[in-house]
Amino acid sequence: MIEISKALKLVDRETAILAAEKAALADTVGRVLRENIVADTDLPPFDRSQMDGYAMIAADTKGAPVTLDLVGESAAGRGWHKTLKARQSVRIMTGAPVPKGSDSVQKIELTRESTNGSVDILEPTEKGRFIVRKGAEIKKGKVVFESGEVITAGMIASLASFGYAKVKVGKQPRVAILGTGSEIVDITKKPGRDQIRNSNSVMLDVLCRKSRASTTVLPIAKDEISDLKFAIRNALKKADILVITGGVSVGKYDHTKTALAELGAEIFFDKVRLKPGKPAVFARLGKTLIFGLPGNPVSAAVTFHLFVRKAILKMQGASATDAKKGIAVLGADAKGARERDTYLPSLLDTNSSGQLVAHPMKWHGSSDFIGFSRADSLVFVPRGETIGKGETASIVFL
Ligand code: AMP
Ligand code: MG
Repeated sequence: MIEISKALKLVDRETAILAAEKAALADTVGRVLRENIVADTDLPPFDRSQMDGYAMIAADTKGAPVTLDLVGESAAGRGWHKTLKARQSVRIMTGAPVPKGSDSVQKIELTRESTNGSVDILEPTEKGRFIVRKGAEIKKGKVVFESGEVITAGMIASLASFGYAKVKVGKQPRVAILGTGSEIVDITKKPGRDQIRNSNSVMLDVLCRKSRASTTVLPIAKDEISDLKFAIRNALKKADILVITGGVSVGKYDHTKTALAELGAEIFFDKVRLKPGKPAVFARLGKTLIFGLPGNPVSAAVTFHLFVRKAILKMQGASATDAKKGIAVLGADAKGARERDTYLPSLLDTNSSGQLVAHPMKWHGSSDFIGFSRADSLVFVPRGETIGKGETASIVFL
């Protein structure tokens, strides 16, 4: 049995980064950048007006109201490119270039334009007023995002601004998902006596795709070594990662490990000091990484978040591959297992003092996925410890 930290290190060590490819910008959310994103222009590219109004020299508005000569107009996309002189003013729109010579803008509400080619400035302005200077947001040549960052929706506008219609991202790992168990039936079926619907395969499919893997869900394999070996061998051809659920414990019909050993897989770990998820297996056969997750849906979800997700992100070249950690105050006591470090599903909330509070969820063990289904975090409790209500604990965001 190995420590969680050791298991994570092994996943990191054995996972190779895939090649990069170009993808259309709109399809890149959740994918991993494989190039530095560099500003190809200053932003703004010119001194830009923040207001609809009039540009002038601030000193000319001393003792306002004053009347200035209206000598032109600067609109967005059609600037006024002469040089403004003393006691002159140019009508200007939001987003338009501020004319050379002027040093401030007065907003339209504090002006009155007349029909005889002049404008009254009703209140004085000051230097730099309502002007965003060229390069104030970013300077040309600066790295905006770094290779290894996961692209979020919030980053898309910046990528677009610098002309990245196509972005270099990590290739999507091909993940095959294999549910096993003689009792497991497809979700389209009404389970017969002693049967259980296959909730794991679709759950893992969704989780993998959320981390931008491309997935194939394989037909369920029975608890027979020959059936398992056949399914595993077939899956290897088209998968960078094979995720198997079920059959990894010590029961008479838990054959996943035997099947892997007989096929000649290299096993990196097959027991982790973790609850839930102790029997998790990590192996490689040919070039394919194999995760054998426990069949219990909650164990499968927790081990996915800790180990499989890490491999999927690493393959894409992500610089941060572990689930995001934090600290929260506990809303109820949380008890760790005696001999295994424990991750308890929890729901986050904030309290009136602005603290993040994690409420460990009532659940009935690792098969209780209904209790787990609204969890947005896991509370970490070191083995043998109890963390009391009101104390702080480490959490992982799901
Ligand atoms: P196992 O890991 O094979 O011992 O399975 C542990 C528990 O998880 C058993 O109650 C199984 O019926 C259940 N289980 C296994 N595979 C799945 C699956 N694909 N979907 C839902 N439950 C499963
Ligand atoms: Mg089973």
